[in-house]
Amino acid sequence: MNNNDTPKALPGDDYSEIRDGVRRICADFPGSYWRNLDEQEAYPSDFVKAMTDAGFLSALIPEEYGGAGLPLRAAGVVLEEIHACGGNAGATHAQMYTMGTVLRHGSQVQKETYLPQIASGVLRLQAFGVTEPTTGSDTTRLKTRAVRDGDHYVINGQKIWTSRALHSDLMLLLARTTPLEEVERRTDGLSVFLVDMREVIGNGMTIRPIKAMINHNTTEVFFDNMHIPVSSLVGQEGNGLRHIMDGMNAERILVSHESIGDAKWFTKTSVRYANERVVFNRPIGQNQGIQFPIAKAYAASQAAELMVRLASDMFEAGLPCGEQANLCKLLSSEAAWEAAEACVQTHGGFAYAREYDVERKWRECRVQRTAPISTNLILSYVAEHVLGLPRSY
Ligand SMILES: Cc1cc2nc3c(=O)[nH]c(=O)nc-3n(C[C@H](O)[C@H](O)[C@H](O)COP(=O)(O)OP(=O)(O)OC[C@H]3O[C@@H](n4cnc5c(N)ncnc54)[C@H](O)[C@@H]3O)c2cc1C
Repeated sequence: MNNNDTPKALPGDDYSEIRDGVRRICADFPGSYWRNLDEQEAYPSDFVKAMTDAGFLSALIPEEYGGAGLPLRAAGVVLEEIHACGGNAGATHAQMYTMGTVLRHGSQVQKETYLPQIASGVLRLQAFGVTEPTTGSDTTRLKTRAVRDGDHYVINGQKIWTSRALHSDLMLLLARTTPLEEVERRTDGLSVFLVDMREVIGNGMTIRPIKAMINHNTTEVFFDNMHIPVSSLVGQEGNGLRHIMDGMNAERILVSHESIGDAKWFTKTSVRYANERVVFNRPIGQNQGIQFPIAKAYAASQAAELMVRLASDMFEAGLPCGEQANLCKLLSSEAAWEAAEACVQTHGGFAYAREYDVERKWRECRVQRTAPISTNLILSYVAEHVLGLPRSY
């Protein structure tokens, strides 16, 4: 069976031109590049530039706004390959999909003003301010307030874990415009704003980097009487949560590709080492205690990849895919973690030596079980919305 005969639902190298293109770029950014950044907590500017110049980050922007107008699966393949090559798409993925809210709900003026510049990389929209320190996953209770004052909104509050905020020109910000006690449904009264950060940094907006387990350039952001023009509102006032949630299936499917790429990297790295490393006069890979965890993780990642592909296909066909998007996020993040654990165990003490990249990738892949949505909240979604069990929170 050649590649063209491979049924769409089975793993195979679809989008081979895109894969080859991404691999060529990644070859210039080997493990040592990512290790140095990790040690210095630095931003991968050169990698982001290479990906932007090659047009990969505009994959999802329609051609009429200067993007490539590719299907979701194609964009996912870009992210998957970055991770399968040992890199990290954390600095690039938001530029791909944060604009989705503007594309779907922005005014014609917003779309014409921002999308072409995001597509060309002149403007970076990679900051997404939703999570807050005191309310966490309970998004509808977030406390950041936006109060209309003539032709401005005045914003007060705080966000946490706003990744890439120091490397972004624009921020998509979720804030409450109507107090919780005045709305009928708690999902009402939240609004989404496209904030031009260049206008407000040091002028109502303060950003502080967070030292974190992984090099994700994440920050906390403070709003102190920050004035933004009314034209920053995206979509309808009070409907912001729904506008943002519209894009969440796409985000979940896309980041699942990163986990699949991680699982591929870990499996490849485990197999290579298990074949090469000789202890007790035999390659360690000859021992079933080493083989089986690698094989089990491989099986889990193959199954997860099928779900990622199904979710991508359903999304592209315009079918409701909340269940599949959540399941693929859950299964792929768990499979990547299983492959990561097998890789660490296979490498014995050398897993801890930074030059092998195993410990870095192990730390990095763990985040997918927490962000952008944690495993528990996916399980709650499945229990309630798919299986019909009572709401647990
Ligand atoms: C590296 C990194 C980057 C991030 N980037 C961004 C970003 O760019 N923008 C942004 O807005 N956010 C970002 N986040 C935040 C991320 O989305 C949140 O960390 C995540 O949604 C969980 O929220 P929390 O940390 O407040 O945990 P909490 O809500 O405090 O939850 C803590 C634990 O309790 C569990 N839990 C809570 N309630 C329930 C319940 N009812 N049932 C079962 N379990 C429950 C959670 O699942 C979790 O395991 C990032 C986080 C990290 C770590």
